[in-house]
Amino acid sequence: MDKMLPACPKCNSEYTYQDGLLLVCPECAHEWSKEAATESQSNQEKVVKDSNGAILADGDDITVIKDLKVKGSSLVVKVGTKVKNIRLVEGDHDIDCKVPGIGPMKLKSCYVKKVVE
Ligand SMILES: [Zn+2]
Repeated sequence: MDKMLPACPKCNSEYTYQDGLLLVCPECAHEWSKEAATESQSNQEKVVKDSNGAILADGDDITVIKDLKVKGSSLVVKVGTKVKNIRLVEGDHDIDCKVPGIGPMKLKSCYVKKVVE
């Protein structure tokens, strides 16, 4: 049998297959290189980047670059909101943090910008 291929990074499908140097997901048609996949697996750490491509880390401060509705409420995290001491987590929303005036919530890294001192 084939050795286990990594699940699709986009939709988490386990039905990925190899096509030459690429891994292909039949469910969302995502293709990515196997080398990149093995590399990130060996590090056991996902690189999370902000909207500018800056690498985020636990404890970073970020600002929100877009008004974000808070799921299940009428609250909105306003653009420019500064959030301190973020924590990176797995998943679609890859930042766990406490938003001032709102409370703990998860954000997507593509909607934030790292605050550089
Ligand atoms: Zn997929």
